[in-house]
Amino acid sequence: MSHNSIHWFRKGLRLHDNPALLAALKDCRHIYPLFLLDPWYPNNTHIGINRWRFLIEALKDLDSSLKKLNSRLFVVSGPPAEVLPKLFEKWKITRLTFEVDTEPYSQSRDKEVMKLAEENGVEVIPKISHTLYNIDRIIEENNGKPPMTYVRFLSVVNAIGSPKKPVPAPTKEDMKGVSTPFFEDHEEEFRIPTLEDLGLDTSFLGPNLFPGGEQEALRRLDEHMERTTWVCKFEKPQTSPNSIIPSTTVLSPYIRFGCLSARTFWWRLADVYRGKQHSEPPVSLHGQLLWREFFYTTAVGIPNFNRMEGNRHCVQVDWDNNPEHLAAWREARTGFPFIDAIMTQLCQEGWIHHLARHAVACFLTRGDLWISWEEGQKVFEELLLDADWSLNAGNWQWLSASAFFHQFFRVYSPIAFRKKTDKYGDYIKKYLPVLKKFPVEYIYEPWKAPRSIQERAGCVVGKDYPRPIVEHEVVHKKNIQRMKAAYAKRSPEGKDDKTTTKGIKRKAPSIMDMFEKKAKR
Ligand code: FAD
Repeated sequence: MSHNSIHWFRKGLRLHDNPALLAALKDCRHIYPLFLLDPWYPNNTHIGINRWRFLIEALKDLDSSLKKLNSRLFVVSGPPAEVLPKLFEKWKITRLTFEVDTEPYSQSRDKEVMKLAEENGVEVIPKISHTLYNIDRIIEENNGKPPMTYVRFLSVVNAIGSPKKPVPAPTKEDMKGVSTPFFEDHEEEFRIPTLEDLGLDTSFLGPNLFPGGEQEALRRLDEHMERTTWVCKFEKPQTSPNSIIPSTTVLSPYIRFGCLSARTFWWRLADVYRGKQHSEPPVSLHGQLLWREFFYTTAVGIPNFNRMEGNRHCVQVDWDNNPEHLAAWREARTGFPFIDAIMTQLCQEGWIHHLARHAVACFLTRGDLWISWEEGQKVFEELLLDADWSLNAGNWQWLSASAFFHQFFRVYSPIAFRKKTDKYGDYIKKYLPVLKKFPVEYIYEPWKAPRSIQERAGCVVGKDYPRPIVEHEVVHKKNIQRMKAAYAKRSPEGKDDKTTTKGIKRKAPSIMDMFEKKAKR
């Protein structure tokens, strides 16, 4: 039978390693590559303009690659459950393919769509390619529970074996006998919207440092893989959060939208590592991809993963409701230059280093402001180019010591934390130009500078730059006590987080321990 197939692009905005797209092309007469602008996704959250730009660029790139195969991308607006049945009928569709998406919103959407497809006599083929492994299989292998420590997680995936190899992109050969029926008015009906079409104010756009799209993702991957020594020696704690040029790959936005397949990245790393000495998980680049997989697994296995309430692995904390402090944090007005520089970079550029995320997340939650990690998660969801439901929720729980990481008495200092990687405060001066004339000794603590120095630097604290909104030395000690009280009330299930399942009790090594152990070598 010759099929009329829709391949529904959601994440997975690429041609390489796209098994669902290949499945759509099998025994196919007409292929309709489709992207839906779904008004409900991502559920109740706001997407910042920099991420919209990334998405639009990724769609344009996809359309241009499809054109090379004599095909086109069809962009349609509307809720999938309304739009798809109409398209099934209009295009006489017999097969629908897509990449599996494990987020709760996507799962319920896909369940509904699969039911509608069945009612319309449409065969559905979902394929796994967003993650390295089948996440359900990892949970199954761990006795039906998500592994709660990285060490346990590693032992489960090691038992499963290496991730599958990526599949090649479709070629003109694969497209023989397959056509996409598009017409001259394609641009009118199915075109990719502009930012203006979406009603967005482009004056808020930041510099376009990370253009979206598969071609850009593969180019960046190639560039990194050529740096074989850097790849082999890569250890996350040794990278700097405040270098002016990113010290890690910044492939995260590309992986998040699926412009780059995690499996392609994995196997390219394996090629570089072959026959050479190289770093190992958790600190290596393979290790980073496994962190991603770890949080995907916990996100699937733990109900209400992006919330404190109803999330039985999350410590229940009496966070404060303080809109003024939350706004000061979000708008880079805390009076702590390191924190404000990071939040400025996030807002303008949409990407910040992992340890910079550590610093601002710890500051917002258990470190200084005692504001819920869910509030921080929302701000990251809006501003990060790589905002990812599972990774954002998992890492916020980690940093707020609500789950996975329990050494709440170890608090980052917003002053001293990164002095050693940026002694002269160049990072701060770049993102907070108001402080650029400040002498080096005061750049992390401008409020300590004598008034005459402040005046000479053209920046008086309290007038041109805010005073610190809290006294770190006082609040962080108080917060440790509050955290101690929250931990004392923990449920037995939460306490189990520190141990592994299968009855073997092991102390969970914290990432800080692992980092520090490596750093001491
Ligand atoms: P590299 O160091 O080059 O790592 C390569 C890839 O590994 C990354 O692209 C990413 O896909 C994965 N990875 C690396 N670190 C982690 C990690 N800790 N957890 C999961 N995957 C990881 N990452 C996101 O992609 N989306 C998010 O929404 C997100 N929210 C975060 C929130 C907080 C509070 C924190 C502390 C971290 C968050 N991270 C998130 C994880 C991490 O900071 C980023 O993945 C990383 O900094 C991206 O930069 P990179 O591509 O240069 O990473």
